[in-house]
Amino acid sequence: MDKLEQDFLRGLQTVLGQPNPFVPLHEPEFMGNEWELVKNCLDSTFVSSVGKYVDRFEVMLAEYTGAKYAVAVVNGTAALHIALLLAGVRPGDEVLIPTLSFVATANAVSHCGAIPHFIDSEFKTLGIDPHALDDYLKQCSLSGSEGLTNRFTGRRIAAVVPMHTYGHPVDMASLLDVANRYHLPVVEDTAESLGSRYQGQHTGTFGQLGTLSFNGNKVITTGGGGAILTNDAELARQAKHLTTTAKQPHRWEFFHDVVAWNYRLPNLNAALGCAQMERLSDFLGRKRLLAQQYQEVFRDIEGIGFVVEPANSQSNYWLNTLQLRQPSLEMRDRLLTAANDAGYQCRPTWTLLHKLPMYVDCPHAPLPVAEHLEASLINVPSSAKLAGGGR
Ligand SMILES: *Cc1c(COP(=O)(O)O)cnc(C)c1O
Repeated sequence: MDKLEQDFLRGLQTVLGQPNPFVPLHEPEFMGNEWELVKNCLDSTFVSSVGKYVDRFEVMLAEYTGAKYAVAVVNGTAALHIALLLAGVRPGDEVLIPTLSFVATANAVSHCGAIPHFIDSEFKTLGIDPHALDDYLKQCSLSGSEGLTNRFTGRRIAAVVPMHTYGHPVDMASLLDVANRYHLPVVEDTAESLGSRYQGQHTGTFGQLGTLSFNGNKVITTGGGGAILTNDAELARQAKHLTTTAKQPHRWEFFHDVVAWNYRLPNLNAALGCAQMERLSDFLGRKRLLAQQYQEVFRDIEGIGFVVEPANSQSNYWLNTLQLRQPSLEMRDRLLTAANDAGYQCRPTWTLLHKLPMYVDCPHAPLPVAEHLEASLINVPSSAKLAGGGR
């Protein structure tokens, strides 16, 4: 083992203690009213598509984020699929998304019959670089009566999807400025950033629509689940309608007015979500403390930095992230091997989406920063309960 591997392991051990035998990357925690609300839900027999917890969960999400409306759905990918449709994405369109993201961001675009068009990230936020996007659109797009088109493919560019990576907010002021100048609808992929704010405002409330995920590894979980956020009453109504088979309300009749989806969040999952929402501010406080511990310990380790929240932002520190000073896939993988062998579950960032077989032929901007980040980012154990060495 060379010095960097030793220093890396020593840093993890200082923050996390002995693995004993294994420290997961991100574990959910059910120490509040989860058992009680799930039991109430079972006792009520309303476990599926009817029941009070879905409404209550939606109210809690809207109040917490400051969005006027929240529509609970079955997972974050489904939320993004419907949000993109509602933003006007049609088959054959292109949608601008970061290449540094989880595959769901691109898949949701594909589910609309549209084509992902991959954009670079910036070091400060790990999210879309609005200035690089602006320069790139100047060269590759044309504005006309149908809106923006890609001058090389002839396809319409229908929307842009900023994703707040590991909870760190995108530079939204600059991004909104670019999107407004090009008349591009903004749909925020807020799957990782429940609890993250930009200039005091919750992520997911800047664009026309924002989407959340409550998968088991996210800040709060419903087992599986997601939500669509919007301030627009009509978009919220359509989001509910399209995710619930487009059934017109009636005491007994089955009348559905368009082809729609069964993307409803079951009441049982919503019951878990209500209990988790009660715990959210506690989770966030401890996650912030853990991030501070990583930051302090890795400040003294040469060759590895800790990714801190961007200026004017408050990150939820969903996944704590270390960054090699010198990008190297080989060194990254050696550190991952050493950590995982020692019982600390660490992960690389995602393989860049434009390299995945189904997306290799999609259009993309120059991606130097994303390539650099791919070879230098490592996620380290981030569960709230790890704060203060408290296991
Ligand atoms: C988790 C996640 C999603 C959606 O996840 P689901 O598993 O479908 O709930 C979407 N985008 C990003 C960036 C994510 O991390």
